[in-house]
Amino acid sequence: MNMPKISSNHDKKDNEEKDKQEVREKQIRAGVSYILVNLVMLWLFQQFILKPLIIRETQIPYSEFKAKITNGEIVNVTLGTERIVGIMKNPEAKETKNATIPFTTNAVPDGDPTLISALDKAGVEYNVTEPPSPLGNFLLAYGLPLVLIGGLWYMGSRQMGGGGMGAGGIFGVGKSKATEVKPEAVGITFKDVGGADEAIAELKEIIQFLKAPEKFAGLGGRIPKGVLLVGPPGTGKTLLAKASAGEAGVAFFETSGSEFVEMFVGVGAARVRDLFEQARKAAPAIIFIDEIDAIGQSRAGAIRMGGNDEREQTLNQLLSEIDGFHTDKDKPVIIMAATNRPEVLDQALLRAGRFDRQITVSAPDLTGRVQILRIHSQKIRLSPDFDIERAARMTPGFSGADLENTMNEAALLAARRNATAVTIQDFDAAIERIVAGLEKKTRIMNEQERTTVAYHESGHALVAELAPRADPVAKVSIVPHGRGALGYTMQMPTEDRYLLTREELQDRLAVMLGGRAAEQVVCGSISTGASDDIQRASELARRMVTEFGMSEKLGTVRYATQQYQFLSGESSTSASPETLKIIDEEVQRIITEQYDRAQILLRDHRDALETVTQQLLKTETIDGAVVKQALVDKAGELIPVN
Ligand code: ADP
Ligand code: ZN
Repeated sequence: MNMPKISSNHDKKDNEEKDKQEVREKQIRAGVSYILVNLVMLWLFQQFILKPLIIRETQIPYSEFKAKITNGEIVNVTLGTERIVGIMKNPEAKETKNATIPFTTNAVPDGDPTLISALDKAGVEYNVTEPPSPLGNFLLAYGLPLVLIGGLWYMGSRQMGGGGMGAGGIFGVGKSKATEVKPEAVGITFKDVGGADEAIAELKEIIQFLKAPEKFAGLGGRIPKGVLLVGPPGTGKTLLAKASAGEAGVAFFETSGSEFVEMFVGVGAARVRDLFEQARKAAPAIIFIDEIDAIGQSRAGAIRMGGNDEREQTLNQLLSEIDGFHTDKDKPVIIMAATNRPEVLDQALLRAGRFDRQITVSAPDLTGRVQILRIHSQKIRLSPDFDIERAARMTPGFSGADLENTMNEAALLAARRNATAVTIQDFDAAIERIVAGLEKKTRIMNEQERTTVAYHESGHALVAELAPRADPVAKVSIVPHGRGALGYTMQMPTEDRYLLTREELQDRLAVMLGGRAAEQVVCGSISTGASDDIQRASELARRMVTEFGMSEKLGTVRYATQQYQFLSGESSTSASPETLKIIDEEVQRIITEQYDRAQILLRDHRDALETVTQQLLKTETIDGAVVKQALVDKAGELIPVN
């Protein structure tokens, strides 16, 4: 029973040993390159800064000096007890620009009694101040730069070497850029987070620990250290971390992974050290690192580039800081990090005792959206008949940040029309803006394009109404919108769904392909306007085959190896070439079936397609009810087709 545990401990130790070894090697390498850089700098300093500064005198014998005085070649001299320096006419004056050059000669030990009179006779300007000693020159040439470089070296090594006394570094580059929020200033609690009940439940334990670490340890709870919040942007990961600090009444440090990514080796690591030092001083505290993937990307898979050494050092520093602070039971520091791509993180980060706790934060469901809209409408005057539930139903897939934006936009729109309260119509208009970007009224579409788009959108809308398990249509529009969308059909789900049957997915596919089917049915030709539809349909069909086991040919086997990724929407497949071929065939079959089905539906309701299209061309935007009406008018009643 104990065996696996022991061996895993052993592994961990080995790995840690390896990490440390790596850090040491990195530091040695960094040190050697530092010395080389300094030597080059010293040489450059002397060549280009000191040489022109320090006067290079030509050494001449005393006899020559005396001869030059008589010949009138000496311009001026400074007489010292040991040396004589001065300016003489340049013997090579024709070849170089300088008519005069400095010279030096050794003085006669007990003084030359004839010198002064010779100088007087030749009319040479002279004085008797002690000239600068060669030692002074030497110090200037070598001592000063050495002192300077030594200073830089000292500061640099303080940054790079482990420990040291604080990581101020040169000009504060090693200072962490994290913002510190004092416990009493956090001002956010779980009440300000909507639709994240599960995440909150998981965070409760962390808060217990932060509030009473001794009690927690006494109860035998394993002391938490790192929490990874995983989810798409805008879903409230930062908010949750901050609210945790608010609930526990501890200090909050917020920073982003990208702030540790720097050009110079050692700077990121110094910042990490500084951040943890600050946090330890303020403990108990929560450190929040947004976008941890910027530093924590897997070392194995990464492309080796210039900045890689730096990132590795930063990551290693982060790891050793996380490993280091567990002993401090009365000054707990919890580190939270957010990412959207946990799969790219270095495994070392996810090892036990580091970010071993993962909390998924997903886009809110219907009830979640209701809660979030309630939270963000607190400071907004809503009209009494504003139905928050309806508003939530209009915004499937919206993140918390999207909802906040929409609510703000609605308030702005209401203010623009000088209203005293925000109505559901304002919210409606705000959704349009958020979903599709600002309306581009200026864009001129030619009549044929407009007609094609109208048929295309009518196709989506009619198939959505006709397919028995598709969500009903809320709104259809051919107003050109941002992000390349020429029009859109908005469906309104009656409820949030977690389980979808194969029939429902097939209906979805038919709706997605309905746009192109309409173009095909009416014009007999197709346009590029459907590329986005096709992409989404292909993705869905592929998932049906590889993830949901909805193909009879392939059976109930999962072929997708990785989790469906939040952002990229990709799922990679691992299968033999033969299987891959069958997968492709199955995807194609599913798509073709639904494309054909959409075409049949539209052919059967050709009149309704015409009615809806004409209405769209007339008013640009129509309500879902118009689509329904068009079908009823023709058929007398709605006949669902298989
Ligand atoms: P993330 O860190 O996941 O990218 P943020 O926490 O920065 O998202 O969210 C941005 C803003 O959106 C928050 O400040 C908050 O106003 C709003 N928000 C996001 N999610 C929620 C939520 N679940 N409840 C309330 N507000 C939210
Ligand atoms: Zn379309």
